Amino acid sequence: MLALLTLLVSLPVPSAASAYNGRPKLIVVIVIDQFRGDYLERYRDQFGDSGFRFLLDHGAYFPNCNYNYANTRTAPGHASLFTGAYSNGHGIVANEWWDQKKKKMVTSVEDDDTKLIGVASDKAGASPHNLLADTLGDELKLATQGKSRVFGVSLKDRAAVLPAGFAGDAAYWIDLKSGAWVTSTYYRTELPHWVQDFNSNQPPKYWDRDWKDAQGTLLRSTAHRKGKDGSEAGFYEVIGPTSFGNEYEFEFAQQLILYENVGRGPATDLLSISLSPNDILGHQVGPDSPEMKQMALDLDRELAEFINFLGHQIGLADVWIALSADHGVASLPDQVKSLHIPAANLDSPKLEAQINGAIAAKFSAGHPAAYVKLDYPMAWLDQDAFAAVHVHEHDAESAVGEALKQAGLRDYYTKSQLAEGKAPDTPLGRKYLNSYSPEGSWYVMGVPDFYTVGSNKGTDHASPYNYDTHVPLAFYGLPFQAGTYRASVEPIDMVATLASLLGINAPTHSVGRVLTEALAPPHRVSSSSVGPGMSPAASGELKP
Ligand SMILES: [Zn+2]
Repeated sequence: MLALLTLLVSLPVPSAASAYNGRPKLIVVIVIDQFRGDYLERYRDQFGDSGFRFLLDHGAYFPNCNYNYANTRTAPGHASLFTGAYSNGHGIVANEWWDQKKKKMVTSVEDDDTKLIGVASDKAGASPHNLLADTLGDELKLATQGKSRVFGVSLKDRAAVLPAGFAGDAAYWIDLKSGAWVTSTYYRTELPHWVQDFNSNQPPKYWDRDWKDAQGTLLRSTAHRKGKDGSEAGFYEVIGPTSFGNEYEFEFAQQLILYENVGRGPATDLLSISLSPNDILGHQVGPDSPEMKQMALDLDRELAEFINFLGHQIGLADVWIALSADHGVASLPDQVKSLHIPAANLDSPKLEAQINGAIAAKFSAGHPAAYVKLDYPMAWLDQDAFAAVHVHEHDAESAVGEALKQAGLRDYYTKSQLAEGKAPDTPLGRKYLNSYSPEGSWYVMGVPDFYTVGSNKGTDHASPYNYDTHVPLAFYGLPFQAGTYRASVEPIDMVATLASLLGINAPTHSVGRVLTEALAPPHRVSSSSVGPGMSPAASGELKP
């Protein structure tokens, strides 16, 4: 008995992860807004050792990660990543939708019961009130009775709020005009002092800079200028589509970690950083432009600095990092066409008028009305307009779907059809079933032609095709076996895997798979027992 006791005492302390005892101290999820899965391969040779390649070479990297739904937009993407479910689980179907009561488009996170904090504004604040599922952060909070601390950061409200879940300590995003970090009364009644100080001191230094490539060629300037509407252009419009925007977010995230003591509590903390600049720039210039290349290379350096900061501040043995994106993007249609591949830029307002005209001709003897709001390739129906001509949901949606086809879309799925689970048992049909949400007014999801985007200029996402669904997925941390895993995986697998490793429940509606192939075999490690064959990750000796 005594011998057994001695044996037990002499065993090294198990190093198993557990949210309950703060192993790891911190999980950082980095979501790059609009970052296609192939970018990491495209620029791999030009990346340094300690940014993206730190994750690719020393972490578990999944180059074939695709969303299995059709509505590849920012709000649904972030909701999917953090709930481990698609829109048919978390309810976030688009960035904005038609609110039948208010008779206008509303955003996925705006909430009239809240106010913005940190900026004088009449606009509503934001909250996760439209989420129909909880998140990884919420389950961390539940498991630790609130000891875990959960934060979301992004230039965009939706990309900060949805990752932070219901129980998040705070979500921070920026006032588009001034660049000041704001939050809402959902989280706090006033900004912490450190955020007020940051807002006073930091935004000005991002103006009047030149963004250049490695050869010194000027890519963009952040000099003050007039915006699209003739007024002074704001922070989001000027600094947003440059690498300085990513720098700005990382600078804020570092301050948050320092001042909120993130990663120093008794339980595992969670920080989501959604980097918006790639999306803001990508829509304008497309994925194959010199600007996007430079932004990826700059981000590699900025990521390296941030990982280095985490190493110094918390220690990388106590941190897990996950990397993904909310969606990809189509190549610029003009460039696609130059290679004789079909592609098109469409004029959405014209399409919307065409569809409304077709509906008016069918139901109101040509008398014009605003039946439909087009958020290409999705059409939102004003139910009151259809009620005025005595048309019910099924007929209204079918008519709009046929009008979409007349206007050149390949096919369509209606809300009533998807609500009944009626879609062909095909890869595409399943993507649309996964895109269903009961929220918003009646709607029709048009199936676009590939490389056909709903804007006159630039490019877009929001299709079910691989260029929009393909995103990176990579993990770094003690439990992960370094390697490249080429099996097909989905972004919803991220939180399923993290929850399992933390020993907590997966989010309420998670249908993701635990990526067991990438997990290191369980080790009982003491500092003296590191032997050959053990990965550096398992030895606890980690250098960024
Ligand atoms: Zn996005």
